[in-house]
Amino acid sequence: LLDADGTTRATVFAEMSALAARTGALNLGQGFPDVDGPPSVARAAQDAIAAGVNQYPPGPGIPELRQAVAAHQERRYGLVLDPDREVLVTTGATEALAAAVLALAGPGDEVLTLEPFYDSYAAVIALAGATHTTAALRATPGGFRLDEDALRGAFSDRTRLVLVNTPHNPTGAVLTRAELEVVARLATEHDALVVTDEVYEHLVFDDAVHVPVATLPGMAERTLTISSAGKTFSFTGWKIGWVSGPAHLVEAVRTVKQFLTYVSGAPFQPAVALALGLETGDGPDATWVRDLAASLAARRDLLCTGLEAAGFEVARPQGTYFVVADAAALLDSGRAGADVPDGATLCRRLPGLAGVVAVPVSAFVHAGSAADAALRTSVRFTFVKREPVLREAVERLTAWG
Ligand code: GLN
Repeated sequence: LLDADGTTRATVFAEMSALAARTGALNLGQGFPDVDGPPSVARAAQDAIAAGVNQYPPGPGIPELRQAVAAHQERRYGLVLDPDREVLVTTGATEALAAAVLALAGPGDEVLTLEPFYDSYAAVIALAGATHTTAALRATPGGFRLDEDALRGAFSDRTRLVLVNTPHNPTGAVLTRAELEVVARLATEHDALVVTDEVYEHLVFDDAVHVPVATLPGMAERTLTISSAGKTFSFTGWKIGWVSGPAHLVEAVRTVKQFLTYVSGAPFQPAVALALGLETGDGPDATWVRDLAASLAARRDLLCTGLEAAGFEVARPQGTYFVVADAAALLDSGRAGADVPDGATLCRRLPGLAGVVAVPVSAFVHAGSAADAALRTSVRFTFVKREPVLREAVERLTAWG
């Protein structure tokens, strides 16, 4: 986790947000919304603080939130969970991922992820002392897809965990049922457990459908499902997440989690319980999440069209906050300067060139991997910003590109 010279390193998101703050560039790097979540949910947290919900909550999370998670999984996906033994509240999805990997993998084990992968995966696999293996996604004109041969080739008899992410950060791919069936079959054949990061479960566009891994035949018994309130309800700073699955696996995660943070977010837990139930009522925020997904789809269109006009090649995302754009043609044309060979260099220059910040896709790959080579000139932009911000970014990029 340290650089080769032993110095510590900020995450690419922190580095790029600092660059945006320093240069005044528009920040399409780190994925966080510039509009907060449902007002009724924010009020519920304020009310909880005023009512004195300010001390340690119970270790597994407050019962009403665990019940709300279980009810959500059943209502949405037909997954029946015991809220007392099969649901655990965590400090965001980040802690759920860390505790799950630390609980289930160790030295000698391989943890298999798709590549590119969300940056914390590599870090927690390293913290667990396990080996990180990857299966590169394949770029197609319609977006990124699972590569069955790459996935099969990445499995071994030491594969202990498969860490899936759908909808996928950074590519915006929403894995299809058929793709997930391939993952499920290979995981079962190799007797591997599955940890699935579904934090963007509600942020899918067009006719894409989110399929939870745990709903595939035979998979519930070997799958831990992780999600959080950050993306679904636009409260990324609250850090309320959860993990659900078989009691013995959830218990293992809780054993680790209790020594990471123990508990967190007391007044936010009842607010998120309320948020998860909004769609079942007829209050003013009942359609909030659906409306967010629809507006994100429109903002995706705005940004993708603009990026294409500016000279990027865009892999159209079906979900999430993000689009991966290939700058190869722009770099070849010399418009970024003669000494800009890749996306990482471009991202450091982009504030000066165009007044926009993006994140290099190199932050989501292993240096030297096949995915690294394929994505060397690619950068990630977020479209979870207000339309005027996106329009301004597109204008600046088009004026430059
Ligand atoms: N998940 C967000 C992203 O991918 C950032 C979260 C973070 O900064 N760790 O941009």
